[in-house]
Amino acid sequence: MGRLQKILIPLLGLVLAFWFYSARDTFKPEMLRGKRVIVTGASTGIGEQIAYHLARMGAHVLITARTEAKLQNVVRRCLELGAASARFVSGTMEDTDFAQHVVREAQTSLGGLDMLILNHVGASYFGFFDGDVEHVRKLLEINFLSYVAMTTSALPMLKESEGSIVVVSSMAGKVGFPFTVPYSATKFALDGFFSSLRQEFALQSINVSITLCILGFIDTERAVRAAAEVLRERPAPRDECALEILKGAALRRRELYYRYSSTRLPLLLRDCAAELLDYLVRSRYR
Ligand code: NAP
Repeated sequence: MGRLQKILIPLLGLVLAFWFYSARDTFKPEMLRGKRVIVTGASTGIGEQIAYHLARMGAHVLITARTEAKLQNVVRRCLELGAASARFVSGTMEDTDFAQHVVREAQTSLGGLDMLILNHVGASYFGFFDGDVEHVRKLLEINFLSYVAMTTSALPMLKESEGSIVVVSSMAGKVGFPFTVPYSATKFALDGFFSSLRQEFALQSINVSITLCILGFIDTERAVRAAAEVLRERPAPRDECALEILKGAALRRRELYYRYSSTRLPLLLRDCAAELLDYLVRSRYR
């Protein structure tokens, strides 16, 4: 009987926990209708797809990246798809003044902000670490410091709207990956900053959600060009990835894993079999 209790009670706990989490909330596109959203890195790739999904849901979108011609096309398409409004600001996130300028633009043109989606990523190489410290510094500025600067500037508006911050990260920001050392470092930095900030929000009863998105290999042009020949796995579709990011954001999830099988499941090994996980990561490469 004692042994039965030892097994049955934890099992019942697990079933209840599963039921509670799976039945919690369901996503409805109306959740994003009329919301005022900034999407960074939206001239192409996952950010572009996020902008299109938001447009279909009737949100106000403010997009940014460096390439003006591409941003113009994305804005035009967003309007065709039904965005409540769509506009862009072009510039480089190497410059924290520009990051703050984008947030000010949301204040001026949208009168506030409900969601800040931080997605842009600077170019890096795919290969053994070459010792270039300046490159690591520059990448930290683009992939990390600008995220911090935008969050800091947007916080008063997000507090007012009880809004959301979405941080697009990677498996390479949870576990060491070869050939992407500078990139990986910037993604680990995001986890540290935003996970700590989330704790402080809880302590201060600040109702702004932070969703950290842990992505596997996605079929964007840049990623496929860099890694398709070397990685054994098939990339997941970017439009589905973008939709999952928005679902996680709207439901105010703490972390989002896409695809689950290539991110969350392997990460379960991290604490109990770290060397096995390292081996599995290396075995993904040809
Ligand atoms: P992508 O296609 O290369 O797009 C990157 C975006 O960032 C573009 O809009 C680019 O536009 C912009 N950007 C680049 N440098 C910039 C700068 N200095 N200042 C401002 N904007 C800049 O990237 P993606 O594959 O969609 O990735 C999106 C996010 O998902 C990133 O955070 C990435 O780390 C994450 N992720 C992707 C994968 C994957 O396999 N694709 C896997 C894991 C995580 P401009 O060049 O016009 O500036």
